[in-house]
Amino acid sequence: MRVGIIGGGQLGRMLALAGHDLGIACTTLDPATDSPAAQVAPAIAGAYDDHDALLGLAAAADVVTYEFENVPAESTRFLADRGVSLFPPPEALAVAQDRLSEKTLFTDVGLPVPTFAAVDDLDSLHDAIEAIGLPAVLKTRRLGYDGKGQTVLRHAELAEDAWRSVGEVPSILEALVSFDREVSILAVRGRDGATACWPLVENHHEEGILRVSLAPGPDVPPSLQAAAEAHAVAVLDRLGYVGVLAIELFQVGEGLLGNEMAPRVHNSGHWTIEGARTSQFENHLRAISGLPLGDTTVDRPVAMVNLIGKVPPEERLLALPDVHLHDYGKVPRPRRKLGHVTVLASDPDALQRRVLQVSAILADA
Ligand code: AMP
Repeated sequence: MRVGIIGGGQLGRMLALAGHDLGIACTTLDPATDSPAAQVAPAIAGAYDDHDALLGLAAAADVVTYEFENVPAESTRFLADRGVSLFPPPEALAVAQDRLSEKTLFTDVGLPVPTFAAVDDLDSLHDAIEAIGLPAVLKTRRLGYDGKGQTVLRHAELAEDAWRSVGEVPSILEALVSFDREVSILAVRGRDGATACWPLVENHHEEGILRVSLAPGPDVPPSLQAAAEAHAVAVLDRLGYVGVLAIELFQVGEGLLGNEMAPRVHNSGHWTIEGARTSQFENHLRAISGLPLGDTTVDRPVAMVNLIGKVPPEERLLALPDVHLHDYGKVPRPRRKLGHVTVLASDPDALQRRVLQVSAILADA
């Protein structure tokens, strides 16, 4: 089996590495020639909308997937329309690229979301403020990530400033939720429609960037896990989805609100490499290749700590037991995800202590 991956970032790299063990040869397509994935697998250099490059990738693959959300949905449609086996379906990518379609889909399948309204100009922003109330978050419908393209609006008189700050582009206004915590559900659906979910993950962000994930999320009652799984499977089934999907959720009391989805392997699932019986990367490849899905059981508490902007001395990290380093081979830059650390422990308290040790090493670096 040969898999073509549109995008050559760390997700493509970890997919390619998982492919090695399965005898699945991955080729990536990325504009950069020194992408993280190009260091471990053959790569085609080209733009995501370069039709010749896309056809070149398809020619080198039995099935094509993508690892980057901002790949133009048109590029995936271009390949699918030419009979290329491509998963997840282009429709899933198109929905995930537009916060309005995403929230509408969540609502349609019964996943509650923060109250929201479409905003196309200053007048509709005023109408939305009227309907939703303040505080609220104004988010661009497209191309927002890691907290970019959004602003919290607390006073109606600042509406114009907020509208300008998001670039006066089609947006949505949604109620600012005072959630108890942020969680995500990772789910996978095979070509035969079989599904599996990993335990809910608790996520901690700083400056809009994911810093730490804990799995299974501490104190997740079975009812919450069951609800998250039911929502994820409803989304998967609705989209005729194949591959791994991540849904980011807000937990409010015993309930869940859908925030956004990523139609790909996800940063909040990196811990699955060492922490689950089958990783998100392996299951994504199994799913799109038509192979049976692997067991998603987690046997002991696990955490993932992102390495942002700098990689600390590896000898200090690796001196800790049950700590695993993943360096993506990137040039350091502020706010750039350069790698991650997986931490395993026998119980949640021991995990907490070890995560604090890792955090102290990061703070020193
Ligand atoms: P997003 O790009 O939609 O994932 O938003 C980035 C972060 O902003 C989220 O991880 C939350 O911490 C916060 N956020 C986004 N939307 C809301 C909301 N409606 N209410 C409260 N916090 C939010």
